Amino acid sequence: MSLDTDTGTVAAARLYGACDYYDAESLLTEDERRVLGRLRNFLDREAQPLLADYWERGEFPTQLAQPLIDLDLMEPAELTGAKSSPARGIYQGFRIFELARTDASLATWYTSQAGLFRTAIRVGASPEQQAEWMPKVIDFSLKGVFSLTEPDSGSDIAGGLSTTARRERDSWVLDGAKRWIGGAVSADVLAVFARDQADGQVKAFLVDREADGVTLEKIHGKTALRMMQNAHITLDGVRVPESRRLHNVNSFKDVAAMLRAMRSDVAWIATGIQAGAFEAALRYVTERTQFGRRLGSFQLVQEKLARMLGNVTSSLSLVVRLTEQQARGIYRDQDSALAKMQTSLLMRETVALAREVVGGNGITLETDVARFHADAEAVYSYEGTHDINALIIGRALTGESAFTR
Ligand code: FAD
Repeated sequence: MSLDTDTGTVAAARLYGACDYYDAESLLTEDERRVLGRLRNFLDREAQPLLADYWERGEFPTQLAQPLIDLDLMEPAELTGAKSSPARGIYQGFRIFELARTDASLATWYTSQAGLFRTAIRVGASPEQQAEWMPKVIDFSLKGVFSLTEPDSGSDIAGGLSTTARRERDSWVLDGAKRWIGGAVSADVLAVFARDQADGQVKAFLVDREADGVTLEKIHGKTALRMMQNAHITLDGVRVPESRRLHNVNSFKDVAAMLRAMRSDVAWIATGIQAGAFEAALRYVTERTQFGRRLGSFQLVQEKLARMLGNVTSSLSLVVRLTEQQARGIYRDQDSALAKMQTSLLMRETVALAREVVGGNGITLETDVARFHADAEAVYSYEGTHDINALIIGRALTGESAFTR
């Protein structure tokens, strides 16, 4: 049986054929596969035709945002029994995989709400704050972004964070700057991390995007994730009430707990990008002929296809296992760092091989591989660079921190 993309019915069909060699999707329930089938249908019909054009223009296709939200993917009622239990991690992983398999900016855009901002609220908000905000996070009626990185501090943000927070009776005054903040231009609130001048600890605040003293500038001229909008944010004497401080964030340790969860999502993105690039390359080499034969019939091309498939399969096995561990409540910094580092390394090789087998057309937006190839570079660097994740693993292995601060 094949996938009925009108209804998303996948009774006996597999959603992921060639790119899921060891059938990881068999870990999904029928209901989960049906929801993912709906997402596939939307991405194929509504999103795919727009991607090349919007990537070239460096704009996000805003017309996709509400229909994507309306798919009710974050905590779909049919999976959660009227929201009484959360959707399973394996479903959430495949949701990211499916988005990234189509486009890395779409996956990043969705994950900035469903991963970054939601994690900030889940880990950082008090139970009372969560009761108020979480339903709005899930239905996107409160759109937020994660504002941690600064112009002068990326990898060393734990020690280098210099945005300040000063308490004045029932409110706080924030001053500083943030860089690279994804989705900020369309957010309602910015989750801003700032150092309390009184005790030197990092705290977090929900700042209205339109509050006095907040300035947003789009970062222009990107050569990766061109559809995703990233902002440089300036905070100049911005006032935030104490009720908008995330009450469970009392030091950078609480931020680290957020990063641990978010890195797993990026490992799923890096895996999905590989799947998309591999599938696009496979399509191409089965269609184009040279020397009177299909490209896919050449031994050297087949070797590259096999390496790409090996990378996708290794990455998928890694993120699935990580997700299973997390479902058992095992969260360790080094686990998600390993998954992010390794899937990103493999991603770089996979997208380069995909680009290579598509030849000259592999640098045009026509064949999709160019988009994956370029976008992979941003994913390689965000949410902890290769080096930083390697140092987290090295610290766990040796007991010695090689960070210099
Ligand atoms: P740097 O820290 O300046 O690093 C430069 C190089 O030096 C890297 O190769 C790094 O590995 C290496 N390096 C640094 N320190 C060491 C060391 N001790 N040992 C060895 N090598 C080292 N941030 C947010 O808060 N919110 C967002 O929504 C967000 N979205 C992003 C989206 C995009 C497209 C990008 C590119 C970034 C985004 N970021 C976001 C920021 C991102 O997390 C940082 O770019 C990342 O942490 C790296 O910081 P940096 O760019 O300042 O690089």
